[in-house]
Amino acid sequence: MSLKRKSSIFKTVKFRIALLYALLFAISSIALFLAVYYFLYVGMMKNVDEKLMVISRQLEDYYLKGERYEESDLVSAANREVPDKIVSAVRNSVKNLNILRYEEITNGNFTGYEFIGISDGIIYEIRIDAQGKIIEIEKHQKYDAAVLEKGFITESHFEGEKKIYFLLVSKNGEILAKSDLRHWPGIPSEKNIVSDARKSGSFRTMNVSGLHGKTRVCDRLIYDGNILEIGIRLSGEEKILKTFSSIFLSVFIASLVISSATGWLVARKSMAGVNRISEAAISIGKGDFSSRVSSGKEGEEIENLVTAFNEMISKTELLIRELQEVTDNIAHDLRTPLTRIRGTIETTVNSSPDIDDYLEMSGDVVEECDRLIGMINTMLEITRAESGMLDFSKDIVDMNEVARAAFDLFTPMAEMKNIEFKLNISPQHVTVLGDINHLQRVVANLLDNAIKYTPEKGRIIMSVSSDGSCAGIIVSDTGCGISETDLKNIFDRFFRCDTSRSEPGNGLGLSLAQSIVKAHGGAIAVESKVGAGSSFKVSLPVQAS
Ligand code: ADP
Repeated sequence: MSLKRKSSIFKTVKFRIALLYALLFAISSIALFLAVYYFLYVGMMKNVDEKLMVISRQLEDYYLKGERYEESDLVSAANREVPDKIVSAVRNSVKNLNILRYEEITNGNFTGYEFIGISDGIIYEIRIDAQGKIIEIEKHQKYDAAVLEKGFITESHFEGEKKIYFLLVSKNGEILAKSDLRHWPGIPSEKNIVSDARKSGSFRTMNVSGLHGKTRVCDRLIYDGNILEIGIRLSGEEKILKTFSSIFLSVFIASLVISSATGWLVARKSMAGVNRISEAAISIGKGDFSSRVSSGKEGEEIENLVTAFNEMISKTELLIRELQEVTDNIAHDLRTPLTRIRGTIETTVNSSPDIDDYLEMSGDVVEECDRLIGMINTMLEITRAESGMLDFSKDIVDMNEVARAAFDLFTPMAEMKNIEFKLNISPQHVTVLGDINHLQRVVANLLDNAIKYTPEKGRIIMSVSSDGSCAGIIVSDTGCGISETDLKNIFDRFFRCDTSRSEPGNGLGLSLAQSIVKAHGGAIAVESKVGAGSSFKVSLPVQAS
């Protein structure tokens, strides 16, 4: 494939659609990935934080009481309201008691609460039943870092020393107790002094120096102002996220390739119709008007385009054919009078003419020229009327009046041929909107033809009628009639039936009449039988006067 071909592919609609398709896919996939990754991460961190909170709570028990509770004995009631009478009974049991925390306890038959508080540097553990009766009060040393450290070691052993570490840090950053930190080279560090530690625990994710991967740390402020710090490695969670990312990446790459290829194929299929139209247009451009675009299965829009294109080409072909015919006819019809003019002049000049011969010749030439000018003007008028360029005035025209005037005008001609000529006008007003001069020409044309093509002693009837919405002007005669094959062509420019060649005319009268009637929103129709006569009907929309 040449470079030119390659660069033209980048400009194609197919390529652009495929690229757009791939881009949209990539953007939506990445957005989906980020959303899933975020929720997965947040969900896992929530689990880790809950676990850290549970452990830190247990360790706080060690610290406060110097012994460990059995987990099953404890039901956290941190968020539940304790009845006021219980709280005041506990407060009254020890002077100046500052309640640090409490647990709701259900143990066998016993249901009640266990409060831990501090007074005068002594930790009190108070058991009270649900009715507010003090069951037991135990005293502990305020601070028991040694017991806590034992708890650190037990817990870290249980979880894995590489996985978790524990520290008890004073406000000044002094390490008061710690778990086995052999596997935590970066701990303790200056990061262990946390100013915003809360009782409910504050959480952060950090990189511990010397270790690969991240560590989640919980800092919990305990009652004496010291901070209990627990760090847990996120290797499991990171592994899940890494696996998820690599699976996503593989699926993403595969889907991107597939979606781009699909986009390309879909676009290629849709564009196939357009290509067929381009090919047909090129071949038409070379002069082959018989070319048509075959229909495919690219979808409705392309099919509509193909149909519209084919219709347009059919009409263009017809117009060009008509144009050719008209040109041929014009050439033919101009040649005859011109030849006649030439012949007249030649004959006169070659016959030792005197002044009278010249005068006669001039008269003949003027007559022929007038006929020619009349023909050219009529052709121009037809073309203008058909293309909508002719300026018709829009007046209310009384068709009864138009018919009567035409009747008066053509009666002498009919009488000369001994033709019976009748007029039936409508008893009511028949008015249309239009150009009176042109409508008069239509009627005159029909009457002129009727008289021309009706033999002596024949009959012509002109009638005007209206059905309220449509005005009808009918001119019927008992003339020679028109054959069925000729009937299809009589409105074509320059068409004349063979039988009428002996009569004067140029075959433009009915074309002009039809173009005028159509421009007025009407129609012209004909019924005829050879030997029996013809009937021309002009229909025009009625306009109330
Ligand atoms: P022309 O100048 O030849 O009359 P038109 O366009 O008016 O041209 O008419 C076209 C042809 O239709 C005529 O040549 C004639 O053959 C035929 N025609 C028109 N009117 C009649 C008629 N009333 N009776 C028979 N033939 C007619």
